[in-house]
Amino acid sequence: MNTTVDAVIVGGGMVGLSLAVASAEQGLSVALIEPHRAEPVAPQPSQFAPRVSAISPHNRQWLTQLDAWQRIPAARVCAYPAMRVWDGQGQGAIEFHASEVGAEQLGQIVENHWITQALWERVDALPKVQQLIGRRLQEWRVEPDGVAIELDDGSRFQAAVLAGCDGKFSGIRQQAGFATREWDYGQTALVTSIRHSAPHAHTARQVFLDTGPLAFLPLSDDSGSQHWSSIVWSADTSRAETLFALDDAAFLAELNRASEGCLGEIEHSDRRFRFPLAQMHSVDYIQDRLVLLGDAAHAIHPLAGQGVNLGFRDAEVLAQEWGRAKRLQLSCGDSAVLRRFQRRRQTHNLTTMAAMEGFKRLFGSPHPLAVLARNLGMQGLASQRWAKRAIIEAATS
Ligand SMILES: Cc1cc2nc3c(=O)[nH]c(=O)nc-3n(C[C@H](O)[C@H](O)[C@H](O)COP(=O)(O)OP(=O)(O)OC[C@H]3O[C@@H](n4cnc5c(N)ncnc54)[C@H](O)[C@@H]3O)c2cc1C
Repeated sequence: MNTTVDAVIVGGGMVGLSLAVASAEQGLSVALIEPHRAEPVAPQPSQFAPRVSAISPHNRQWLTQLDAWQRIPAARVCAYPAMRVWDGQGQGAIEFHASEVGAEQLGQIVENHWITQALWERVDALPKVQQLIGRRLQEWRVEPDGVAIELDDGSRFQAAVLAGCDGKFSGIRQQAGFATREWDYGQTALVTSIRHSAPHAHTARQVFLDTGPLAFLPLSDDSGSQHWSSIVWSADTSRAETLFALDDAAFLAELNRASEGCLGEIEHSDRRFRFPLAQMHSVDYIQDRLVLLGDAAHAIHPLAGQGVNLGFRDAEVLAQEWGRAKRLQLSCGDSAVLRRFQRRRQTHNLTTMAAMEGFKRLFGSPHPLAVLARNLGMQGLASQRWAKRAIIEAATS
């Protein structure tokens, strides 16, 4: 059977799910293809999943509008109004407070699976979203007035547009031959949850070590007297592999040394996971009847906690453009509609990625001049209120 929908969305990660919800809210009929749907998780008072995201105030607001944020248990969300950044090799340190830009929070730390689960709940309640779980995109063919899509179980769809939200290694991007720019940092991120003796005081922390940045993200302490944070320790791959291979006691010793006691004593660390770090940007996000978003279009160093935040902004803007097209009785795959999306998103994504790349080069370098520059930079910055405000505004948007 050949089913006709406005859009086929490939990938039910955080970005694809949010696009499905936002598009259905705009009146589109959508088919969502995702090979794996994770089972719902019961709240666990003191155990945290290893993957967390710092969600910006803008995206929290948008997820609330989608009626998704409210579904995340409040006890699993940790708001942080402050961030402290310091140089592990020098004297520089700087603190950012949301109050400096009249905001309440810099962001909220949430385990990824709660965000995904909240969005699946919304998808379940939307008849306009047809769920194709356990299936994969097999092939597609662009036709004059749409795109013909076939899944691995032989089912067929006719859509005005195909949206690739299939992540960093996007098969759609590769098969369609989108050109990309890629930077391999030669770094790997270690991710885990840690328990520490001192409260985190709802402050995110980041120390720049000579091998790369180490971030401490505060986790909810609603569950009682224990204090937990998530860490993202980005290091040159050989160093990361050494850290990964250490036994728990030796790893804790390294972590305690690197953290300089900022959370008291780090007493426990959960199982460690590692992610190779690379930055990738697709030169174009669109082709005829085809659009890429989220990590499929751009993967960014986790240093700034911006990856899924950029992806959510992509989904918000694309759903707006599709809603506008519907109202104007245009096809959602019309090239003018897709070009508007690309224009609106590419500049913002590129600016953020370029800033992160510069930051990475400056702070990631062990060169003495870079160390001096970053110390001067941090101390200079600390006294420049306008520059601090600009950084905070960028981080919270
Ligand atoms: C260590 C680390 C820390 C991070 N911290 C932050 C942070 O604090 N804040 C932040 O904003 N970002 C952060 N990020 C980035 C963030 O995790 C990603 O940007 C985000 O997960 C991308 O979401 P996505 O939906 O685009 O892609 P993915 O999460 O990769 O989802 C892609 C989906 O597509 C599906 N798929 C793949 N192939 C197919 C196919 N052929 N057919 C159908 N479906 C398919 C997959 O099953 C998957 O569900 C971090 C990343 C790392 C590595």
